[in-house]
Amino acid sequence: MSGAQVCKSCGIPRRTSKSLTWSSNGTITEARNPDHRMVFADVDGLGELFANIEGLIGISIQSIITESKAKATGDFTKELIRGWKGAVVRRAGLGLVINKMGGVAKSFGYGDVEILDVDWKENRIDFRLHDPYSVPLMCGDLRGATEAVKDVIGTVEPEQEDEHTWIVRGRLSPPPSGMEERLAAAPVELKPGDVKYEVCPLCGVPLGISGFDWDVDRGIIRNQETGVRYAFVGPGGIQAIFDELASELGETIPETVIEAQRMRVASQDYEAWRKFGYNEFREMLAILGFGNMVSFEASGGAYNATVENPALPLMIVGTALGALESITGKKGTAEWSIEADRDLKISVRPA
Ligand SMILES: [Zn+2]
Repeated sequence: MSGAQVCKSCGIPRRTSKSLTWSSNGTITEARNPDHRMVFADVDGLGELFANIEGLIGISIQSIITESKAKATGDFTKELIRGWKGAVVRRAGLGLVINKMGGVAKSFGYGDVEILDVDWKENRIDFRLHDPYSVPLMCGDLRGATEAVKDVIGTVEPEQEDEHTWIVRGRLSPPPSGMEERLAAAPVELKPGDVKYEVCPLCGVPLGISGFDWDVDRGIIRNQETGVRYAFVGPGGIQAIFDELASELGETIPETVIEAQRMRVASQDYEAWRKFGYNEFREMLAILGFGNMVSFEASGGAYNATVENPALPLMIVGTALGALESITGKKGTAEWSIEADRDLKISVRPA
């Protein structure tokens, strides 16, 4: 079956083009919640990044990933259902919400979610995930959404069923009274920009993301050239994981994230890097929602760039190092800083 409508011109699902807005300031935001940014991320790479971090620090970070993502998704879901919508959602039931969110999740490339069993008297809910884009991130999403919709707290435990499916068992109960609701962080002010995209004449999405195969029924998006899996994820949730890792494991974490991302990008040996100039890099960064590269110059053997409205700056720095390595065949070094106006300044050079 395929109920999903896709654009006749560019092949991108209508649900995706309706849910997301690409702006000239290098960001992707959700149409219904313009303060909520998204990035179109290499999620195979994100999994490899987490594995690389575990390899570099020597311990499992799965529970930190799920915990941080649950908080971020919970905050986001609460915002989404605030007010009268929240009451309707709680009455209508979680199943309806999950089914509705499940449709959006598929159009974002998250795989498919099925509710197996719900028993709120016993505080239980079990899900089956088909082809999840990331097991620990998806567990965090399910836990955060369930906690927000049902006003409960608890744990989720994944268990692999076969090659493509996982059973996730949620054990959630009402929170003890007196628990403070955390205040959502104020949205970050974004700078205006002037990135121009060539867009699909029918649905308006940038044509730069049309080089992907969308399996809408299974919720899988793959780059046609590399086969790498992509999904639209909230950078806030991923940044929360990096921040939590840094507070639990120390100040070497940013360097570890950069190094893990460099390893990922350099290992891909992505042919197109070698042909890329400033305009191609700038357009790619913006189409993926990572920000607006407003300057790029080579001086004294170093490449210097400024990115306005950066999302996940550590991943941008790691990607710049990996790309430099792909282009020059030599490992590079990076200096970077976040300025007072939140701009990311990067300088990379061959070591
Ligand atoms: Zn289109």
